Amino acid sequence: MNAAPLKPYPWQIAIWQELVRRQRADRLPHALLLTGPQGIGKRSLAAALAQALLCEQPGEDGTACGRCRGCTLYAAGSHPDFLMVEPLEEGKAITVDRVRRVVAFQGLKGQYGNRRVAIVSPADRLNVNAANALLKTLEEPTEDTLLLLCSARPAALLPTIRSRCQQVPLPPATLAQAGEWLQARVEEAGAAADLLTMSGGAPLAALELASGEQLAIRESVIGALQALSERRELPLEVSERWFKGGAEPVLRWQSSCLADLIRLRSAPQSARLSNPDLRGRLQPLAEQVDLEALYRLLDRTQQGVQQVQRQVNAQLLLEEIVITWARYFRAVHR
Ligand SMILES: [Zn+2]
Repeated sequence: MNAAPLKPYPWQIAIWQELVRRQRADRLPHALLLTGPQGIGKRSLAAALAQALLCEQPGEDGTACGRCRGCTLYAAGSHPDFLMVEPLEEGKAITVDRVRRVVAFQGLKGQYGNRRVAIVSPADRLNVNAANALLKTLEEPTEDTLLLLCSARPAALLPTIRSRCQQVPLPPATLAQAGEWLQARVEEAGAAADLLTMSGGAPLAALELASGEQLAIRESVIGALQALSERRELPLEVSERWFKGGAEPVLRWQSSCLADLIRLRSAPQSARLSNPDLRGRLQPLAEQVDLEALYRLLDRTQQGVQQVQRQVNAQLLLEEIVITWARYFRAVHR
């Protein structure tokens, strides 16, 4: 079975060449921490590097050949010298049993070559026990094992983990690179620019938006805020619906809408919004809540995103936030 080998994205070429150069000079450390915003392709770059390192005949540009035994096994997800350490379910924590596989793996000899590679992504999702277990492997590195950690929030990692990895900040795409890449992948030609604005310029995040699933969640957020402001729906009905749909994406979209509400409240005419297509629906909401209250809600929502990742009771958290919204909206109707 042949599969297309993994390549870096166009905006990653320079950093890719740098990594390949260091690898050829045998100057890669035993752990790299790839950082950068959500949706710019950190995990993809890690995967391309892993495949290239396990490839028996990498090309001139350092990417994998896609045909050799190493590449075939990698593509099939069954290379014995490769481990992917990720949450069992998206949005959940990485537990210690996943990391123990790295510990066991590190003790082995490479089966096909000398090198073994493990990717930990997102590394900021390691729970406490998992982080401590990983720390042990970082403290006692073995020569031929490369650990690739990916994180959009490196500050959330244990400082001791951070300090034992070499940080590699990945460049975001320029607007032109992102636009060209996205244009080739979305059906509606005019949509690319809007999708990029909504995703803060992160091409992969923009492509995910294009799939519609994320936009449906955004619609459930803005729709519910309108319903609350017009008192068409009860707070607990809203929070229950949001909880069923997944607390974290709801909170992220709420952050995005709140940032826009703050912009509209501060400069109604000239505000550049993250959700330009929602301007007409956001404007009346912005008029109902004062700036200070919006900032408080934004703080609470962003804090909520982190709490949900640490597995607090998400249902209670959403209830609290929705009730706060309802209280602020009610204040206007009095
Ligand atoms: Zn190959």
